[in-house]
Amino acid sequence: MPELPEVEVIKNIIKPLLMGKIISYSIVRIKKLKYIISKNIVKINNQKILNIKRRGRYILIILLQNTIIIHLGMTGKLFIINNIKKNILTYNKHDHIDLIINHNLILRYTDIRRFGFWLWEKKNYKKNIFLKKLGPEPLEYKFNDIYLYNISRKKNVPIKILLMNNNIVTGIGNIYANESLFKSNIMPTRQSKTLNFQEITYLVKNIKYILNKSIKHGGSTIINYRLPNKNIGNYSKYFYVYGRENKFCKKCSTIITKIKQRNRSTFFCYKCQK
Ligand SMILES: [Zn+2]
Repeated sequence: MPELPEVEVIKNIIKPLLMGKIISYSIVRIKKLKYIISKNIVKINNQKILNIKRRGRYILIILLQNTIIIHLGMTGKLFIINNIKKNILTYNKHDHIDLIINHNLILRYTDIRRFGFWLWEKKNYKKNIFLKKLGPEPLEYKFNDIYLYNISRKKNVPIKILLMNNNIVTGIGNIYANESLFKSNIMPTRQSKTLNFQEITYLVKNIKYILNKSIKHGGSTIINYRLPNKNIGNYSKYFYVYGRENKFCKKCSTIITKIKQRNRSTFFCYKCQK
């Protein structure tokens, strides 16, 4: 599943290629991904792209009056394809949507498992039903130690569950929640209200550090987010705990433990994390 850094990297790659350009038309080869694809996307015609943004794990294509909201689900990928004459007729069964840009470029959406979705928002995208409840972006100032400390007092949940609640902070996701808690020496199972202010401060600092470092390395999941001519997605080699059960802790050589929390995998080191 693409997490925030991967979506940020994709946004950063496609933004300069698409901003200010015109969506000439679309080719939609499927009726429904996770949700039905709006007729407005199917029939889109000569619409200028004012901007490309990211909110949480959503990619936003901002048009003059509307917004296309894209969520990549589990296996969604976006490709920029240059040679339109050659490639527009060449597609496979998982290439569901093409946006034809300036009649010479394709933004192609591929999704094997079809858990992704494309929405058409007529109002301000901030009021979209999926976006309006999202908490602050973890890399913005609004997500800070005072904010997380205050919220953590009020919740009876383990700290990792709190970090993965998109209404509290948007898009940290499982990988980066695990890695941030390891770097902060905090056990993922600890009740959030037992963390003191100093621990919260350190945790917030590490969340921002790890997300920024992953964005710098192009995200962590090279297989799903490959874009042409870009060497991205090599952050996974920097993982300390995620996916490393039964391996030695890189700091203290204790064996890394894996458990389930709310059906998601949690990884930690008994010795390093308290
Ligand atoms: Zn350790």
